[in-house]
Amino acid sequence: MVTSSKVMAERLMLTALKGGRNTRILTLNGKRITKMPSALEKLPNLRTLDLQNNRISKVCPELRTLTQLTLLNMGNNHLQEVAEEIKYLTSLKNLHLFGNRICRIAPGVFDGLRRLILLNLNDNKLTSLPEDIGRLRSLTYLSLNHNNLTVIPKELCSLEHLCELHLNYNQITCIPEEIKCLQNLQQLFLVRNNIEELPKEICRLAKLRILDIAGNVIQIFPAGFQDLKLREFYCEGNPLFLKRPIVAPQPKDLWTLREIAARFVLCLLNEEDPLIMDAIESYPEVKEKLSKAKKCAICRNPFLSEWLECVYFVAPSKNWKISRNLKLIPIQTLVCSYQCFDQRDPDIFGIAED
Ligand SMILES: [Zn+2]
Repeated sequence: MVTSSKVMAERLMLTALKGGRNTRILTLNGKRITKMPSALEKLPNLRTLDLQNNRISKVCPELRTLTQLTLLNMGNNHLQEVAEEIKYLTSLKNLHLFGNRICRIAPGVFDGLRRLILLNLNDNKLTSLPEDIGRLRSLTYLSLNHNNLTVIPKELCSLEHLCELHLNYNQITCIPEEIKCLQNLQQLFLVRNNIEELPKEICRLAKLRILDIAGNVIQIFPAGFQDLKLREFYCEGNPLFLKRPIVAPQPKDLWTLREIAARFVLCLLNEEDPLIMDAIESYPEVKEKLSKAKKCAICRNPFLSEWLECVYFVAPSKNWKISRNLKLIPIQTLVCSYQCFDQRDPDIFGIAED
């Protein structure tokens, strides 16, 4: 059996070599090959190289001569890294490296892949992504399911053509606010990670149609989440807040001096007080901090860093296809004081701290 597939692989290779400059496609799928054929350098016009389901543990140096290659499939092999040679494949559009043992991406490897549209690195051992992932300017599809990633690097968020991002079964704990830059993102899959909250910037993904965050540790969604124009939304297996009245403790509001000062200045700015508007220009750091102010859901007054986190519940849009058991989505809302909390409408619930 071993011999026959080896013999067959050699025959296929010989046929390809006879074609020489005319050979466009070489398929050596499932031939128990352990070493990449170095004769590849004799096929300079190769467009498609399919070596999936073999036992290759290293890319051969001759690979770099295949500058016309548009598709390389080395899925299900024994590779341990995305090797430097790959950066010379400057015509590459589709790169499949799923089902290997990749734990390392050679520095600069993404530099040459300016035309890459699809990158599939599912089922590997990656713990991080290099910053130069942002160099994959043409990328529209990125799949990294079943790795050991803990963060989404903000450089990934500069991939402005990205439509689909698959990050299921990793150990990601948070999503960077830069996610808002992925303005062409239509499908985002984050099943089975350790995400505690979604940043409010996710609400700015105007083209997002499918969001799957099943199996995380999300309790509440950011304000505005209900306005996303989703078609499919899955969130089973998250400890979402349920609609039930919570008896919040009622201590007196005790703000720090900083908060009192901030609220005072914010109020004057709101009233467009000319003196304070003029003065603030001399303190860019203060201005920057105050720009992060939030608005009370009850009195609409601004505040800076001390608030009561509350929750209200909205029915998901009828246009969303959703998880079967999802009746209401808990949405975060912030209240500036216990005084306002006491005047809240009955649909807003306090969140008891445990
Ligand atoms: Zn208030």
